[in-house]
Amino acid sequence: ELCGLSKTFTLGGGLFRRGRALGAVSDVSLRIPRGQVMGLVGESGCGKSTLAKMLLGLTTPSEGDVLVDGRPLRGASQKALARRIQPIFQDPYSSLNPRKRIAQIVGLPLQVHGIGTSREQAARVAETLDVVGLPRRAADQFPGQLSGGQRQRVAIARALIMRPDIVICDEPTSALDVSVQAQILNLLLDLKAEFGLTYLFISHDLAVVEHLVDRVAVMYLGRIVEEGTREQIFAAPRHPYTRALLDSALTPEPGLGVPDIGLGDTMPDPSDPPAGCAFHPRCPKAQAICRQQRPRLEAFRDDSTRVACHLA
Ligand code: SF4
Ligand code: MG
Repeated sequence: ELCGLSKTFTLGGGLFRRGRALGAVSDVSLRIPRGQVMGLVGESGCGKSTLAKMLLGLTTPSEGDVLVDGRPLRGASQKALARRIQPIFQDPYSSLNPRKRIAQIVGLPLQVHGIGTSREQAARVAETLDVVGLPRRAADQFPGQLSGGQRQRVAIARALIMRPDIVICDEPTSALDVSVQAQILNLLLDLKAEFGLTYLFISHDLAVVEHLVDRVAVMYLGRIVEEGTREQIFAAPRHPYTRALLDSALTPEPGLGVPDIGLGDTMPDPSDPPAGCAFHPRCPKAQAICRQQRPRLEAFRDDSTRVACHLA
């Protein structure tokens, strides 16, 4: 459970401008039910990866808390809880040490945490390579000898070897060929069922998460603008930004065929977000009030949807 999580970076002042605060993540509250897949979707730079880093303890929140089973991910309980949350990052080319053999890469978390004898560690590595569908001989190979899909299986094995409860997947398929993406997504779904995992699945692409998620949270410039069930988000999106993301997902080549509402434009400067609703400069429905008042993320009474839009 994310409770009012914020992260503010301070940019250094340049010759012509004073240092100012960059609100990378602003007041994000989100519950991820056990055993479910929560999709977190938004354009690059919207704060998704910063959010992931706070969940992994790689970045300290400026405000707010992360709770696991009601216990805060800081102080005395931090170390024990942090083990239960493991990451799978985007790029299997840069996240694996090219000079280490696969068995060393996958077994490293066990060494770091001093879990088991070296024989037990080797057995668990072999077992985990099986689980992710890698051949035993991969253990003695180097990352450079494997395909992109195989490397991502190594990264998944490295996350699973700690037997986590929660896996943070940050764009785990976006560096892979389309033909390999589906295999990795199916593997992640199989592993979730087998080990009862809970996923936060981060993507810039709604289409990628459609067949994977139970719920979706949509982020824009550091804030959640809509959250709901998969059915609701894909069939009846309430926020104009969610609609625009769905439209762009339907366009094979962005900007062709489907009416362009302007998502091809660059995002506003995140260090200086627009006043009122931060989406208003790009929103086809913007009214006068949108330029003045920021809409609150509010729950609908009829279901578990939340949306931040004056017109929703
Ligand atoms: Fe568009 Fe206004 Fe809703 Fe923002 S609040 S998404 S600008 S209609
Ligand atoms: Mg990112």
